[in-house]
Amino acid sequence: MQDHYGRTITYLRVSVTELCNLRCRYCMPEEGVQKKEHESMLSEEELIRAVRIAASLGVRKLRITGGEPLVKRNIVSICEKAAAVPGIEELCITTNGILLPELAEPLCRAGVSRINLSLDTLCADKYAYISRVGSLDKALAGLDAALHAGFEKVKINAVLIGGFNDDEIPQLAELTRQYPVDMRFIELMPMYDGGDFGQEALLPCTAVLDKLPEAVKVEQDGGVAKLYRLPGAQGNIGLISPVSAHFCAECNRLRLTADGKLKPCLHSADEYSIKGLDDEQMREQFVAAILGKPRWHGELSAANRSRAGRNMNQIGG
Ligand code: SAM
Repeated sequence: MQDHYGRTITYLRVSVTELCNLRCRYCMPEEGVQKKEHESMLSEEELIRAVRIAASLGVRKLRITGGEPLVKRNIVSICEKAAAVPGIEELCITTNGILLPELAEPLCRAGVSRINLSLDTLCADKYAYISRVGSLDKALAGLDAALHAGFEKVKINAVLIGGFNDDEIPQLAELTRQYPVDMRFIELMPMYDGGDFGQEALLPCTAVLDKLPEAVKVEQDGGVAKLYRLPGAQGNIGLISPVSAHFCAECNRLRLTADGKLKPCLHSADEYSIKGLDDEQMREQFVAAILGKPRWHGELSAANRSRAGRNMNQIGG
């Protein structure tokens, strides 16, 4: 289905929980999130029904995210059922990787073909600082598990944060020579509650290229990342620039939050609830959300923070 600006919506990002086993400083408050009433969250049955309706409207790619999707008790069952929905061609997960040693193989068997693993730093102290409660060793064990489980593709995502990890760009990029992975740098987005990070932290992705003079441009693969490659590398370097060079004109996404709100745009407060609806009503909300997609997300800077009204863990990054 197309929106009002001629964009065909083929990609649904589904958040299965707001809860997380980390507390990343740019993503959520230190105290974590207030656990919402079970009844106010989408049930597995509603979630799979929503995927069916999305697929009937032309969605072909699903990304399961959160919060941390792997802390969801029934995550393997959700993936198995979502992958089996007619029309869904690709099922991906974004995870911090901490629980992958236990879950990588079951998820792969359930039909997950691609894993994006979030890893902002290779320094143990910095990992502990940015995640507030996490350990780098566990994230690296998760990467190892992902690489051995048989997924079609493993990508690593680092949020680029000026003054925090820009000094590690060469080391992070080097991972594409060590492993068959893509390494993607994502510009930090000034979310609702991420006030620790001022304008100096909002580095444009061009800073990555300044540190990688050997990188050569390669063709984009249909995603929003601009791709580069280091000589001898097994995977690409991806640059994702929602702040300095937005890609709203190519946005083919819709987001579904764990509490059942369709979000036409990551940075807009507009939401369309599907909780408790029957199929026909749910379909109407999907259509309304697609037609409600704004042309672009508006200016983002330290002074113009996201207008999403939620932090990333409550949307599904
Ligand atoms: N817990 C999972 C994880 O860590 O990948 C999935 C959810 S997390 C919200 C998804 C992605 O959003 C992560 O790669 C995270 O780094 C990114 N993210 C969170 N807040 C962000 C922000 N303010 N700007 C850019 N990316 C952000």
